[in-house]
Amino acid sequence: MTARGVEGPGGSAREAARAGLYVHVPFCAARCAYCDFSSGLFSVAAAERWLAALEREVALRAPAAAGLTFTSVFLGGGTPSTLAPEQVGRLFRALRGGFAVAPDAEITLEANPESVDARRLVAWGEAGVNRLSVGAQSFHADELERLGRIHPAGRPAEAFALARAHGLRRLSLDLMFGFPGHTLERWGATLERALELEPEHLSAYALSPEPGTRLGDTVLSGATPVAPDAEQAEAYGLFLERAALAGLGSYETSNVCRPGAEARHNLVYWLRRPYVGLGPSAHGLVGGARYGNFRDFEAWAAALESAAPPEAERELESAAAAGREVLLLGLRLTTGVSRADYEAELWEVVARRYGAALDEAIATGRLHATADGFAIPRALRYLADDVLAWIEARAQAHGFDSDSAHSVPSSPCPSPPSSATGATPTRT
Ligand code: SF4
Repeated sequence: MTARGVEGPGGSAREAARAGLYVHVPFCAARCAYCDFSSGLFSVAAAERWLAALEREVALRAPAAAGLTFTSVFLGGGTPSTLAPEQVGRLFRALRGGFAVAPDAEITLEANPESVDARRLVAWGEAGVNRLSVGAQSFHADELERLGRIHPAGRPAEAFALARAHGLRRLSLDLMFGFPGHTLERWGATLERALELEPEHLSAYALSPEPGTRLGDTVLSGATPVAPDAEQAEAYGLFLERAALAGLGSYETSNVCRPGAEARHNLVYWLRRPYVGLGPSAHGLVGGARYGNFRDFEAWAAALESAAPPEAERELESAAAAGREVLLLGLRLTTGVSRADYEAELWEVVARRYGAALDEAIATGRLHATADGFAIPRALRYLADDVLAWIEARAQAHGFDSDSAHSVPSSPCPSPPSSATGATPTRT
C-alpha cells in the first residue's frame, strides 16, 4: 500500500488473465515524432485490404487456438480508433467467428483523442468494446506539437466525457515523460490534468529515442538533450506518488490503476499466459511455439494473399527461455513473481537456473521475498533493468548458460510498447 493506492495485481486479476487475442491495426491519422511502430497513414482502401488479409489470418490461426477461451481482446497499433465504424463491426465478426471470446472478456481499443466521436463509440459498444486506452501523452499544447501529436490539449477531456456518456467505465490514459524540453514542473501539471479526468488506469513511459524517428534522431545525434537520468527517475517517482494520492496503485513498472482495474491484456503477457497476435508485427505464444509476424504491412498482407503464413519468425520455446521470461516479465509486476502463477515444471526450471542468484539478490536487498516468491523493492523499481541484469550475470557465474535462453522476443507486448528485455518504463 502506498498512500491511498493499493498495489497489485490482485489474485482475481491474475486469475482472469487467462488468454489474450491481440490485433495490430497498422494505421494512424499522422505519424508522431518519436514513434517507430509498424504503422502508416490511414486510408479506406488500405484498411479494406488489411481487413481482408486479417480475415485470412484468423482462419490460419484459429486451429492452433481451438482449445483457448480468450478473456482479453486488445486492438492496438497504430491507432485502432481510425477505423470506420463498419470496419470495426466487420473485424469483430471475423474475430468472434474464428475464436472463442469469453462473455466477460475485457475488450480494449486504443484510441487517440481526436478520433473519439459519438458514431465510433456506438460502433465500439456494439462490437463489445468495454475499455478504452486513450493516448494523451501531455496536456501542454507546445509539448504535443513537439511530439508530433495532432490533438489539442483539451481534447482528451472531451473524449473522456463522450466515452463516459456512452457507458464506458474502464478508461485508461497514456502519458509520456523525459522528452526534450520536459520539466518536472510541467510533468506535475500534466499528471494533475490527467488525474482530474479520474481514469481507472494510467500509464507513463519515458521517451525511448528510436533511430529513424524525427525526435529520436535529434536526441541520438546529441542535437537535442534530454533530462538526465536522475531527473527522469524523479519524474517517475512523481508519477507513482501523485497517482497513489488519487487512489491509483502501482501494479507494474509503468502502470497504475484503481483496485481491480489492471489491464488484463498486459497481465496475459507478463504472466506468460497464451496469446495470439494478428496483423503486421504482432507476436504470438500458443501451443508452446512463438511466432512473430512480418513487421511490414506489404509483406504481411502479400503473404496472406498468397495463402502463406505471414511470419518472419517461429520457434518452439525452450524450457530455458520460458524460465528466463518468468523473471524478465514477472518482475515487472509490483507484487513480483509468485509461484502460484506458474506450472510446477516451469517453476523448477526457474529454481534450478536462478535459485542461487535469487538468494543472493534477496540477501543483498535487490529483491525481497514475498509469501510465495520475490519482488523488486519499491526503491529499486525504476532501476529494474539493472536488477535483472545483475541476476542474469550472477546466474551465469553459477554456471547458467544464457545462450540457451535466446528466444525471448524483443517485444511481446506490441502495444503499449513494454520491452521484454527490461523493465524500465519506455515510451508509448
Ligand atoms: S505513437 Fe501512436 S498515434 Fe503516434 S504514430 Fe505511433 S502508433 Fe501512431
